[in-house]
Amino acid sequence: MPVSIPFDNSYARLPEGFFAAQAPQPVRSPRLVAFNDDLARLLGIAAGDATEMAQVFGGNTVPQGAEPLAQLYAGHQFGQYNPQLGDGRAVLLGETVGTDGQRRDIQLKGSGRTPFSRMGDGRAWLGPVLREYVVSEAMHALGIPTTRALAAVETGEEVIRETVLPGAVLTRVASSHLRVGTFQVFASRGQIDRLKRLTGYAIARHYPDADGPMALLAAVRDAQAVLIAQWMGVGFIHGVMNTDNCAISGETIDYGPCAFLDVYHPDTVFSSIDRHGRYAYSNQPGIAVWNLAQLATALIQQFDDPAAAVEEATGIVHAMPSLIEQAWLRIFRAKIGITTPRDGDDAMITDLLARMAAGQADFTNTFRALAGERAHDQFTDPAAFDQWAEGWQARLADEPDPQAVMRAANPAFVPRNHRIEQMISAAVGGDYAPFERLNAVLAHPFEDQPDHADLARPPTPDEVVPATFCG
Ligand code: AMP
Ligand code: MG
Ligand code: MG
Repeated sequence: MPVSIPFDNSYARLPEGFFAAQAPQPVRSPRLVAFNDDLARLLGIAAGDATEMAQVFGGNTVPQGAEPLAQLYAGHQFGQYNPQLGDGRAVLLGETVGTDGQRRDIQLKGSGRTPFSRMGDGRAWLGPVLREYVVSEAMHALGIPTTRALAAVETGEEVIRETVLPGAVLTRVASSHLRVGTFQVFASRGQIDRLKRLTGYAIARHYPDADGPMALLAAVRDAQAVLIAQWMGVGFIHGVMNTDNCAISGETIDYGPCAFLDVYHPDTVFSSIDRHGRYAYSNQPGIAVWNLAQLATALIQQFDDPAAAVEEATGIVHAMPSLIEQAWLRIFRAKIGITTPRDGDDAMITDLLARMAAGQADFTNTFRALAGERAHDQFTDPAAFDQWAEGWQARLADEPDPQAVMRAANPAFVPRNHRIEQMISAAVGGDYAPFERLNAVLAHPFEDQPDHADLARPPTPDEVVPATFCG
C-alpha cells in the first residue's frame, strides 16, 4: 500500500535563490526501524506497509506531491560567520497542513549529497539518527517546543566516520526550517529583495500578527526567550547554538551533540568540539541573545536607511535578557513548588542551585525528590540541603498544593546520555528493545514508572559519557 502524504509546498513556490531542487539519493537496502504513528496522524499521513515506507523515508521513492529541495542558509558557527551553509545532507520533501491546522515541513536528514554538501558525504549514521529520534520526542513530551521525529530508516549502507558505521535516514518534522542563518545569507549578500520576501514569508507562516521586520524580531525574541528558559528548566544543553541552528519558530532544532545534565554544574559542556565552553549550560541565555542580535543585524538591512532602524532593533534585543530571566523565574518557581511570586524567590532558587553544584547533586532527581522526603540524599553534604530547606519550607506555607506543582514541573525521566549511548550500541547490534523502551517511558516523563526506575538512575562512574559528537 502506498504512503499518502497530503503535500502543500509553500517553500517550493518561493522564487529562485532560496533553494536548490534536489531529490534524495537512493540507498541500497532501506529498512524501516521506527515510525511515529501519532505524529503521522497529526500530519494527515496515511501509512503504507513497512516495505513501502522504507522506500519513501529512506529516500528511494519520492512520494506523490513532494517537491524535494535543499534549502540555502548561512550562519555563525562558534561565533565565526560562514557565508554559505545550506542543507548539506538533508532535503525538504515538502509541507503538510496537519489536522490541527498547522503547516509543517517534512524533511529527510542523511539523504545524500546536495549542492551545499561541501566536503561532506551527505549521510548520517544510525547513532545520531536514533539520538535525535528519542531526544526530540522526549522534548515534545516534556512540553518543550521542538522538531519531531516521524521515521527512522537503516540504509543498509556503510558510513565512514572515525570507524565504519551503519547509515540511516531520519524523517524530521518542523514548523519550518527557517533559521537566523536563512536571513543572514541574503542580508550578507545584499540580496534585499530576497530578504524582504523571506521576511514576509516568515511572518505569514509563523507570526501573522507581526506588522513588519521589527515585529518579527520581537516575536522571535519572545519565542526564543521562553524556549531557552525551558531548556534550563530540564537541564538541557543544546551544544551547538550556531545561528544556523536557531529556528525562527522558537523550536529546538539540531540534536547533534546535545545532552542533559546528570550532576548539576553551571559550566557543564558535553560537545567534543565546544572546546571553550561557548555553549555551556549556563551560557545558553547569553548566546540566545547574541543570536537574536545577528537576526536583528540581518533584518535591518531591508530598511532604506538601516542606520535609522538600529535604535529600535537594539531596544528589542536588549529586552531579551530580562524576558529570559522572567521565564526562567516562572519555571524555577514551579520547580520548587511556588505559584505566587515574591521578592527573594530568585535568591532562594539561586542558593539551591549553588548548593546543588557544591554537593554534586543530580539535577533531575534533586528537583523530582523535592516533592518527596529524600532530596537531601542527592547531596554529598545533606546538611547543606537541609539548611536551605528550612527557609523553603517556611516559604511554602501559603502555597495550596506545592507537591502537585512540583510533580508537574519536575520530570522523573529525561533522556540521560548514558542511556542514549547504551541504546545506540544495542541498535547497532540489531537490538531495538532499548530504543522502544526509552521512547515508551519518555512519552510520560512526569509519571512515576516504578518498573523503569533504572532509567531515572544517574550513570555509574563507568557509565558516564564524558563527551558527545555531532555525528
Ligand atoms: P550542523 O553542525 O549539523 O548544524 O551542520 C552544519 C552544516 O554542515 C550544515 O550545512 C550541514 O548540512 C552540513 N553537514 C553536516 N554534516 C554533513 C555531512 N555528513 N555531509 C554534508 N553536509 C553536512
Ligand atoms: Mg544544523
Ligand atoms: Mg547537526
